Amino acid sequence: ENEMIQSGLCERRALSEHPCFYGSASARWGRVHLPVAPHCNVQCNFCNRLYDCANESRPGVTSRIFEPAEALMYLDRLLKTRSDISVVGIAGPGDPLCDPERTLETIRAVHAAYPDLLLCISTNGLNLAEYVDDLADSGVTHITVTVNAVDPLIGQRIYAWISLNSRIYRGLDAAEILLFRQQEAVAMLKRRGMMVKINSVVLPGINAGHISAIAENAADWGADVMNCIPMIPVRDTPFAGLGTPADAEMVRMRALASRHLPQMYHCRRCRADAVGLLCSKNHENV
Ligand code: SF4
Ligand code: SF4
Repeated sequence: ENEMIQSGLCERRALSEHPCFYGSASARWGRVHLPVAPHCNVQCNFCNRLYDCANESRPGVTSRIFEPAEALMYLDRLLKTRSDISVVGIAGPGDPLCDPERTLETIRAVHAAYPDLLLCISTNGLNLAEYVDDLADSGVTHITVTVNAVDPLIGQRIYAWISLNSRIYRGLDAAEILLFRQQEAVAMLKRRGMMVKINSVVLPGINAGHISAIAENAADWGADVMNCIPMIPVRDTPFAGLGTPADAEMVRMRALASRHLPQMYHCRRCRADAVGLLCSKNHENV
């Protein structure tokens, strides 16, 4: 193994060394998010990106947006000082596939420089189907798709609008299109052998009774694991007043959902510029 590392031919890390997909890896391995994707093609009623992407985040801005080349320089510096990073992810602060050129350029540069690291993307799934092959061919191994509803009647309450091919859709149309495209993309990801996690933001009074149905549908699509994330209310959003689901309710919901999909219990709701072990502080000044 030493010889392989010295000659630069080190092997790719095992898929099971992703600390979010596998709880067992989270004590040893950490992740770094590269915040290169500022824009979003969906407006969720719980998100205000002035504060961050609530897809995978606690409220609070990412410290800054990187250009792809800067992201690689930052990673170079980071990896000189730490040996606990197994995965590089892009999780916004917007949607990585709303800025596909920036995301793919970053991913390809990271994969060329550090072929042993796992690569991960977190997306709302609206633009995902178009890029499944590009992502797989660029070395991406793990994808998270945020699915907050599998019933458009519920989805229409969550999404203010979606933007697709330069058109804005609202209401039931928006929810139907997003759901169809998420489902299609997950099936494509599995055909390319990628690991798929479903994130569902639990919104009291909106989709809290619907989480098990999401799990059941996502399991049919082929997803591998599910992460139910209690919403943190963000000010200046339509859902600012909803409150956050009670811990006991989350326990019950996850137990029901686990009948369909294995659950992730250790998510830290990281910022788009998070770095390190999930149990450590969530970001460094970049
Ligand atoms: Fe915010 Fe993510 Fe929803 Fe876009 S997809 S509005 S960044 S939570
Ligand atoms: Fe992992 Fe959750 Fe953090 Fe995403 S938000 S990197 S799933 S711990």
